[in-house]
Amino acid sequence: MEIQKNFDLKNLNSFNISAKTKYFYRFSSIKELQNIIEYNKIIKEKTIILGGGSNILLTKDFDGLIIKNEIKGINIKSESLRHVTIEVGAGENWHNFVKWSVTNNLSGIENLALIPGSVGATPIQNIGAYGMEVKNTIKKVYYFDIETLTEKVLTNKECDFKYRDSIFKNKFKNKFIITKVVFCLNKEHANNSNYGAINEELNKLKMEPSLKSIFKAVINIRNQKLPDPKKLGNSGSFFKNPIIENKKFQKLKQSYPNIVGYPIKNGDIKIAAGWLIEKAGWKGYTEGSAGVHKKQALVLVNYGEATGKDILNLSFKIKDSVKEKFDIEITPEVNII
Ligand SMILES: Cc1cc2nc3c(=O)[nH]c(=O)nc-3n(C[C@H](O)[C@H](O)[C@H](O)COP(=O)(O)OP(=O)(O)OC[C@H]3O[C@@H](n4cnc5c(N)ncnc54)[C@H](O)[C@@H]3O)c2cc1C
Repeated sequence: MEIQKNFDLKNLNSFNISAKTKYFYRFSSIKELQNIIEYNKIIKEKTIILGGGSNILLTKDFDGLIIKNEIKGINIKSESLRHVTIEVGAGENWHNFVKWSVTNNLSGIENLALIPGSVGATPIQNIGAYGMEVKNTIKKVYYFDIETLTEKVLTNKECDFKYRDSIFKNKFKNKFIITKVVFCLNKEHANNSNYGAINEELNKLKMEPSLKSIFKAVINIRNQKLPDPKKLGNSGSFFKNPIIENKKFQKLKQSYPNIVGYPIKNGDIKIAAGWLIEKAGWKGYTEGSAGVHKKQALVLVNYGEATGKDILNLSFKIKDSVKEKFDIEITPEVNII
């Protein structure tokens, strides 16, 4: 078992922040995972599981063991007239799987193109973008139970998916390692182009909505709007979009007629956190190497030498000023470590 010591995670987190972990181990099979967890029952180190590192903020060195999931494989399990069931290793790159689905003419995740990270992390916060959420295609999630050292499975319903939330962020926190995810994709195409700027981009491309054109449009939009973590460290949206009561929304609308909000199922309103942050004056702000992106106020960035603490402190200031201006609490989407 090759455990690395005093390992720098700079190249393994999309904020490109330098922080060391006492121990580091990569596993690519259940057997290797079982061995490291069993070994850890002896050395008793705190453990964190790492996927693509695109939704974490490392605020200090980690005094414990970080294990990186590299379980691979995309395997078709069954096929019916309308659906195909596919089992995907948790360490597969998410965008590669989306690309695979489009190449194989299967619909359901094309609007989620170019979201960085691993397949195994997608159920945790129920990733979503451009009118699609991953929960709508997940059939089952296999996980390794750290207590019993056995592999178990949850159905979609048991995952308790919500907006950027699931059982894995709550009841199961720190008790599981996702090993593979089973997806059910559709042969009939969703052609879901009504969200965000997709239709506009399709017009520019002179293309009709289709599986392939929507995939292409989403990639184009994301490349224009979001900074590439390889060039400018970031973890996408730093905060979740807050949900408030319609009554409060209507009141805010009197003072801010342009406030951006979308009704959700129970009548509450989901507010665009980026709009709140921009209106509170933070867009393009910098403090040393930490900053708020020039084009997208929801994205905090590392201009080079920022530490996790620099980014975290900036996020606290933003949170406080949004609370003061709008009386709305915004909470991080990113996992603070
Ligand atoms: C430029 C950019 C754009 C983004 N856009 C979006 C977007 O549109 N929509 C969206 O929802 N998200 C978005 N994100 C956030 C991020 O890409 C997703 O949350 C992604 O699913 C994180 O995957 P990861 O493998 O990198 O997770 P990591 O950052 O490695 O881990 C995230 C959390 O999950 C845990 N974890 C990871 N893998 C496992 C596992 N196998 N078992 C148990 N726990 C695990 C980690 O311990 C950590 O707590 C964006 C990020 C960036 C950098």
